[in-house]
Amino acid sequence: MLKSIIVESCIFCKIANKEISSEIVSEDENFVVFKDINPKAPIHFLIIPKAHIGPVNTLKAEDKDIAGGLVLKAKEVAEKIGVSGSGYRLIFNVGKDAGMEVDHLHLHLLAGKPLKFES
Ligand code: 5GP
Ligand code: ZN
Repeated sequence: MLKSIIVESCIFCKIANKEISSEIVSEDENFVVFKDINPKAPIHFLIIPKAHIGPVNTLKAEDKDIAGGLVLKAKEVAEKIGVSGSGYRLIFNVGKDAGMEVDHLHLHLLAGKPLKFES
């Protein structure tokens, strides 16, 4: 386990701890991958660390294994579900202008159709 910080009020900590149910796609010692409740594409997964880490604009050098691990986990899941060839998009929303809702670090994985890129 990379770290074990839990925040009581955090919805993604609750999902990681199974206090709130979600459709879990993949799980290991450090990360959980689950389906987004409000999908923006045919495949829309969220990859989170089990430990509570804040969003990208709060990351510290010591968080590099978790942050890097999220990207590698996304790659692994994309291969497992067979979208590596067709393609996918990985998104970190950061702060208000990006519409970030949850302050537990998470990486969106979108796939399953040609994706528009809008701002
Ligand atoms: P953000 O905008 O913070 O980058 O993304 C948060 C995402 O979490 C949103 O896409 C939202 O639909 C998803 N989400 C919020 N609450 C829940 C929940 O309780 N369960 C699941 N599965 N997804 C959630
Ligand atoms: Zn959390």
